[in-house]
Amino acid sequence: MLDLAIVGGGPAGLTAGLYAARGGLKEVVVFEKVYPGGQIVSSSEIENYPGFNEIKSGIDFMDSWVPQAEKFGCVVKSGAGVTSVRKNNDIFTVILDDGQTYEAKAVVFAAGTKPRKAGFDGEDEFFGKGVGVCAVCDGFFYRKKEVAVIGGGDSAAEESYFLSQFCSKVYVLARSELKAAPHTIERLQNTPNVEIIANTQVLRAYGDKTGLTGVTYLKDDKEINLDVAGVFVFAGRTINSEAIKTDDGYICETDKSGKIVVDLKMRTSLAGFFAAGDIRIDAGNQVVCAAADGAVAAASAISYLHNLK
Ligand code: FAD
Repeated sequence: MLDLAIVGGGPAGLTAGLYAARGGLKEVVVFEKVYPGGQIVSSSEIENYPGFNEIKSGIDFMDSWVPQAEKFGCVVKSGAGVTSVRKNNDIFTVILDDGQTYEAKAVVFAAGTKPRKAGFDGEDEFFGKGVGVCAVCDGFFYRKKEVAVIGGGDSAAEESYFLSQFCSKVYVLARSELKAAPHTIERLQNTPNVEIIANTQVLRAYGDKTGLTGVTYLKDDKEINLDVAGVFVFAGRTINSEAIKTDDGYICETDKSGKIVVDLKMRTSLAGFFAAGDIRIDAGNQVVCAAADGAVAAASAISYLHNLK
């Protein structure tokens, strides 16, 4: 029986693991569906985590989080997707996608978010064949080629700048004006091979057997074809809450979108079940906020287990 099962190995889950193990819990396991690090590993840069006064790639930045948690006895399992979390008689049952089952006295749910689709025709058809969601992972394939970025928020602006360093041209197709941090927008506006096309709607992707060759967007009621070798979609994110879905809702209270309702101690409506990071209501959607949530959730789990005894 685990003291604490943690679902998700992003900043929130790994911090919860570090704090829980260092705080004296035995048998603390982080279950991570893919590999640890969370969504920030798809980012080319992070420059706003206090104490790190140099720009690092998301991968480099997260590099030390697993060993730091493991140093205190936390176990981090990669490739361990959780398909179901349920509670019966004060015991949680955690089922993995390969059928393995674990029992735990408490759970921190920190499964974060995944990319939302932009919703244009051909998005699925050309996914992986010209349409992507991770500039760090796939950007290299478009060296010296023209690409388009769909989106106007921080991620879209930061990743457009990243792509501009090796792509010949980056078109930024935004539904409205850019909504990123002012200095990110300014940097983009001053990059010669970036063209920001605001107030557009991407209608469809086109291509041939080899893959995507362009996208069609609507601007001022005119349909315009843009021939590009690749398209990167940054259209927001949607939460990973499938594992806690029941036939008639969720195992704990959520808002309409499925975000988990928590109090300031990251407690949910289900005793012993805590949520942390981007998966919760009113999340800060930043690494520093997710890490803080993880620390608070771990402290609450420790106190919950103490009171159980
Ligand atoms: P996530 O990072 O989403 O981690 C959740 C983890 O859970 C993932 O590893 C996922 O694989 C795993 N998981 C999901 N479902 C399951 C399951 N069923 N079973 C097991 N594991 C599961 N923040 C900043 O502070 N500064 C930045 O500059 C910045 N730039 C960003 C750039 C990009 C391109 C993106 C996408 C995000 C950026 N962010 C940035 C936001 C930041 O990455 C998130 O706020 C943060 O990672 C949230 O952490 P989390 O642990 O809550 O969730």
